[in-house]
Amino acid sequence: SYVLYHDQIIKSGSIPVDPEDRGYLFGDGIYEVVFVYNSKPFGFAEHFERFEQSAQKLDLSMPYDISTFNKLTDELISKNNIVNGMIYIQMTRGVAPRNHLYERNMQSVVTGFAKSVSLDSIAASQTSGIQTYLTEDIRWLRCDIKSLNLLGNVMAKRKAADYDCQEAIQHRDGTVTEGSSSNVFIVKDGTLKTHPATNLVLNGITRQLVIKIAKDTGVPVLEEAFSVEELLNADEVFITSTTMEVTPVIKLLGTRVQSYKIGPVTTKLQKDFKQVIEEKTSA
Ligand code: PLP
Repeated sequence: SYVLYHDQIIKSGSIPVDPEDRGYLFGDGIYEVVFVYNSKPFGFAEHFERFEQSAQKLDLSMPYDISTFNKLTDELISKNNIVNGMIYIQMTRGVAPRNHLYERNMQSVVTGFAKSVSLDSIAASQTSGIQTYLTEDIRWLRCDIKSLNLLGNVMAKRKAADYDCQEAIQHRDGTVTEGSSSNVFIVKDGTLKTHPATNLVLNGITRQLVIKIAKDTGVPVLEEAFSVEELLNADEVFITSTTMEVTPVIKLLGTRVQSYKIGPVTTKLQKDFKQVIEEKTSA
């Protein structure tokens, strides 16, 4: 396969890994995951706008402009013959002798790869729904940055899997924030609710698109924090992410337990979301 290194697409296995890269030493870097449908990246502009915002928030310098990233992404897709799949791109602050203090104007290190994904595997959980595990959100207070520091998310996901759940739902002092790698929505009396795009959650690209679709089609949306009690009393619950699209939640496990039906609002948004993918990525 072929991978991205700086602004080149090269054969995998030939990337020099420097142990003094701040990405390894401090998790000092950012990333994006873009889905590929029909060999086209979906929502590329939105993902790279967020990439630039993450860079800016961490005082990281962008070595290339968006058109270069776009070109490299297309090349990753074509060289790896990806029809449906995902593109991962990360950028670390670069290589320097280990010191918490970073110097400005370092040479960022950009790497990335592409993977084919079977759409059948995501379709299955979208049809049947997933089990989720309620757990405390132990992460830092800048979850709006898509940084490489994902230990809180990683620990939450492992715990969820240990209880036979596909995703964790995190809460901070009883306020639901987000999944370990997804945003969380509830439906109550026909109205959607999801945590506002503050420092406590990642403003998901899928989240933003689902909110737009809902508003455009007359589904009321409140970007308001909601409690674990509201989660328990919701009519429908679903998660959103680049790799899971709109996936219904059928069970909550953990300190609180609840079952949900896959409801009409979730099903409608799933369908509308597929429609947008189709429109934007058909030949
Ligand atoms: N929240 C977290 C913590 C994530 O890691 C992700 C994606 O991986 C999301 C939300 C969903 O974001 P997006 O829809 O842009 O994939």
